[in-house]
Amino acid sequence: MESTAFSEQAQVQPRRLWRNWSRSQSCQPRAFWVPTDEHELSNQLTRDKRPVRVVGAGHSFSPLVPTDNIILNMACFRGLVSVDHGRQIVTVKAGTPLSQLTTWLFEHGLALHNQGDIDTQTIAGAVSTGTHGTGITLGCLSEAVVGLRLVTAQGDILNCSEIENSALFRAAKVSLGSLGIFTELRLQVVPAYRLKEHVQLVPLSDLIEQIDSLKTQHRHVEFFAFPFADIAILKTLDFSSDAITALEDKSLSENAILRMACEASRWMPKLNPRIQKLVGRFVKDEQRVGYAHQIFPSPRNVRFNEMEYQVAAVDGPSCLEQIIQIMQSRKFNVFFPIEYRYVAGDQTPLSPFYGGDKASISVHQYYKQDYHPLFAAIEPIFHRYKGRPHWGKLHSLDSTQLRARYPEWDTFMSFRNLMDPDCRLLNPYSKRLLLG
Ligand SMILES: Cc1cc2nc3c(=O)[nH]c(=O)nc-3n(C[C@H](O)[C@H](O)[C@H](O)COP(=O)(O)OP(=O)(O)OC[C@H]3O[C@@H](n4cnc5c(N)ncnc54)[C@H](O)[C@@H]3O)c2cc1C
Repeated sequence: MESTAFSEQAQVQPRRLWRNWSRSQSCQPRAFWVPTDEHELSNQLTRDKRPVRVVGAGHSFSPLVPTDNIILNMACFRGLVSVDHGRQIVTVKAGTPLSQLTTWLFEHGLALHNQGDIDTQTIAGAVSTGTHGTGITLGCLSEAVVGLRLVTAQGDILNCSEIENSALFRAAKVSLGSLGIFTELRLQVVPAYRLKEHVQLVPLSDLIEQIDSLKTQHRHVEFFAFPFADIAILKTLDFSSDAITALEDKSLSENAILRMACEASRWMPKLNPRIQKLVGRFVKDEQRVGYAHQIFPSPRNVRFNEMEYQVAAVDGPSCLEQIIQIMQSRKFNVFFPIEYRYVAGDQTPLSPFYGGDKASISVHQYYKQDYHPLFAAIEPIFHRYKGRPHWGKLHSLDSTQLRARYPEWDTFMSFRNLMDPDCRLLNPYSKRLLLG
């Protein structure tokens, strides 16, 4: 890593308001630290013993970041450090946004194995929460990590991989900023690939019956369910060698329709079923081909809040049916569709996908509407299926409940206690999650 001879201390920016993407979380930290390199970061942590919470792009819905103390901003940690073409392994600075990373990878003929709905998160933020896309054979982004460099709460710098500090490495892959600050990540990537996307409107009840077989017929399958109109937007993605089609940017019109629909159903809740049906008419049966990093993300300009749980893949359809039923019977005023995806299982102690393949189900509410009644009604359904919440999304579980859902919880906690005995890296919310 580069280091600077002029500066020993991170730039300290004064007190100001911090807010997350959805505007549901905010805080006024004592200061923002903006180190320009690892050396500065390490010095700052050694010299100043106040609690610190590291932030990525602030795209988590849950209060993982808010603190009255110090927010550590990794905006200066951006860049591709090295590319090993032979082994298809890249080293990237932790604060790099996914959009930049995937563009640089493409310039090297490489790509991530999978991506989620957006690409504005930082690689460290996405890895830390187990951010994922869809695909029953494809793990979350943390699964691409083959090595990492972190600065501990005491200012020490550690390399972690399957060979060095291997047990810590396993725990750190999904660690919510609680074991140390990632400065670099080493990622296993794949050769650049083209995807053919097929979007179609389908009857929701038919889709729920077929989804179990569809999940193995496509590399990626996901759908957006509109429970008040019994329709769903089904999206499948598969490898393709077809010519690239014109990638028209429809995000402006799509987001305008979405915003209008949310506002209309907010003010006229009785019309929600009709609005959902009407919006369905704008969905055309369409295919397009592009490189993966162009196809995966869609701009999300209409703000919302979100709760997402992972349940055993086999339970996904019945869990979804119960959610739909409660939304219909209690006539919840929500326009946003339910998102349904699949993610392959892994062995990372705090990964929501630990131990087996999962169906990932997300419920959204427009940001101008109170999400509490909707999420409170639906969360007990996820509990019945022993679901695990997405760390970056809203849920109500505390450490006692979480411990019961994570077989290697105590393994993780032994590292947390070792790495940060004074809990300097935790904020009130992560203390509730991890310490009870
Ligand atoms: C519109 C929208 C769409 C989304 N789509 C998806 C999706 O498709 N799939 C999905 O799984 N999730 C999705 N998410 C959730 C999002 O991917 C996660 O919340 C992710 O963690 C956000 O990354 P971030 O860079 O904003 O990190 P932040 O939200 O800023 O931080 C997340 C966590 O990472 C830690 N962290 C940040 N940087 C570091 C570092 N350098 N070292 C150690 N820890 C660090 C923070 O302390 C915090 O605990 C979406 C969110 C939004 C708002």
